Amino acid sequence: MRHIAIIGSGPAGYYTAEAAQKQWGDDIRVDIFDALPVPYGLIRTGVAPDHQSIKGVSRRYEKTALTDNVRFVGNVAIGKDITIGELQELYDAVVLATGAPNDRQLGIPGEELGNVFGSAAFVGWYNGHPQFAGLAPDLSGKHAVVIGMGNVALDVARIMAKTAEEFAGSDIVGHALDALTSSGIEQITIMGRRGPHQIMMTPKELGELGHLNTASPRVDKSDLPDETEDAFLEPGIRKSVTHLRSFAAIPEDIHAEKPVEVEFDFYANPVALEGEGNVSSVKVERTEVEKGRAIGTGEFYSVPADVVIACIGYRTSPIPDVPFDERAGRFANDEGRILTGLYCVGWARRGPSGTIGTNRPDGYSLIEKIAEDMDAGLLGRIGKAGREGFDALASTRGIDVVTFQDWKKIEEAETAAARDGAPREKFTDIEAMIRAAN
Ligand SMILES: Cc1cc2nc3c(=O)[nH]c(=O)nc-3n(C[C@H](O)[C@H](O)[C@H](O)COP(=O)(O)OP(=O)(O)OC[C@H]3O[C@@H](n4cnc5c(N)ncnc54)[C@H](O)[C@@H]3O)c2cc1C
Repeated sequence: MRHIAIIGSGPAGYYTAEAAQKQWGDDIRVDIFDALPVPYGLIRTGVAPDHQSIKGVSRRYEKTALTDNVRFVGNVAIGKDITIGELQELYDAVVLATGAPNDRQLGIPGEELGNVFGSAAFVGWYNGHPQFAGLAPDLSGKHAVVIGMGNVALDVARIMAKTAEEFAGSDIVGHALDALTSSGIEQITIMGRRGPHQIMMTPKELGELGHLNTASPRVDKSDLPDETEDAFLEPGIRKSVTHLRSFAAIPEDIHAEKPVEVEFDFYANPVALEGEGNVSSVKVERTEVEKGRAIGTGEFYSVPADVVIACIGYRTSPIPDVPFDERAGRFANDEGRILTGLYCVGWARRGPSGTIGTNRPDGYSLIEKIAEDMDAGLLGRIGKAGREGFDALASTRGIDVVTFQDWKKIEEAETAAARDGAPREKFTDIEAMIRAAN
């Protein structure tokens, strides 16, 4: 029997477990650890609450989770409750699938002002991540600035623009629903350094902005490159640019019918956040794009901002004794191999890119590498203690492990507490989750 510990129960963790089952069948035992008492990583705490069909992918992971050779070991933070070295004593292979939970910093003056948030924090707040449930952003002002031109920026802008009615059927947490639907926000500026041809937004998500009840997207026609140049774009981006062109053609009387404006500010490089105590404006340098890169023009202007959300990417959290690539913000690795017997996968391996599905081939190819290392004798002889060894250590250390069956009780309680039409009302603190599990 071989034993694998996977740290992180997001998509990368579960696809890797699924691949291990396919590779070794009943000759493998996999423990999937998570620092939270609840599984599924960003499926639960990242993917937008009004995109329930995407969140439905977790049903596929449940199939893997419910087999006898895979266990969920929740409420155990690796690097804190137990070290990597200790896990390596117990398991033949240790796989870090810990994602990239930390916001990349803007690195500009004023970033420390009040009401300035990174997207990990803001998204975690509206999705009920225990670490961010208490964020309490002040949404009473009129102007919101969202920095970034990717899908996370779109999620954040859309969530800020929706009415209570438009959240029907979503699992947005109650505290965020109340704050967002009583907010004073009238203008949401999505700001990015480069132009429409350099956006990282997918067409389906961008198109949604054109169908909101009380908000309409505004694109300045003069920002759009000549239409003939769209032919050179990758097909997905070309479709997204077509949406931008249709937003630019929205007549003023239609804008006037919708009180909230979602404005795209292209060629806009934020150079400072300004204000006293809380942020009140973003100082921006106008740019030009040359060979895909934004170059400052020396022209500056200010955009009013009562709240700022920076959606500019994520970094993995370092773990003691694990080599880290500071520049890339992820574990130092060679196609998933970190050190003998220690691997990484998903966002912890390649950084925050791709879709949920991208993590599947990542998991499968990592299992091939672990199999190669086993066959080459690099992972030592069979006979490590595996899950029994962990259980013994957990009980001497008083670690309160949450099992998959416990999670199902938490899930049941969340479903029972749902408001009308919603799939669940999430617990937002760890104590409450554990109480529900018991
Ligand atoms: C805001 C947002 C919206 C997104 N929306 C979409 C979408 O609509 N469609 C789509 O295809 N993709 C979307 N994605 C991308 C998708 O969520 C990722 O591709 C995917 O979640 C990455 O999987 P992962 O397993 O590497 O990391 P994660 O999903 O982040 O999982 C990592 C897990 O590791 C756990 N962990 C971390 N550190 C430790 C530790 N020390 N000990 C124990 N456990 C630990 C965490 O608690 C977490 O459960 C979105 C991403 C974000 C940020």
